[in-house]
Amino acid sequence: MEDCIFCKIVKGEIPSYRVYEDDSAIAFLDINPMARGHTLVVSKKHVEFLSDMDPDDIGGMFRAVGKVGDSIQKRLNPAGINYIVNQGRTAGQIIPHVHCHIVPRNDGDGLEFHPKTIDIPEDEMKEIAERLKV
Ligand code: AMP
Ligand code: ZN
Repeated sequence: MEDCIFCKIVKGEIPSYRVYEDDSAIAFLDINPMARGHTLVVSKKHVEFLSDMDPDDIGGMFRAVGKVGDSIQKRLNPAGINYIVNQGRTAGQIIPHVHCHIVPRNDGDGLEFHPKTIDIPEDEMKEIAERLKV
């Protein structure tokens, strides 16, 4: 898609610190990293939301996520990794082209991915689960 920064990176029209590429996805370092090795895995197809993707494309993208995560684990040896997909502006998605963040974690790094939780009554939990059944 024209004017999409990640499509331009996929096509090689703008530079990136590329670490992986296959038929479905590319991976490159995030330009504003939360940690050393913070990597983005980006679908080669321009789709805004994960939930709009073809299942095979999701499979292809997450195969790449697994490979890159494995490489990060083996080569950087972090204490942990957060895999994050933001969908929609409210959820923090700035670039409207589906991507997964891979963020290496280490003790005391100061990152926080556990915001507050809410209490939901039992009957409402059941109702929500019913609505979501696929
Ligand atoms: P999100 O908030 O999930 O949409 O994340 C988009 C990410 O893309 C941000 O973490 C940005 O730092 C990153 N980003 C934006 N432009 C570039 C670029 N040209 N190269 C690498 N990462 C980028
Ligand atoms: Zn795009």
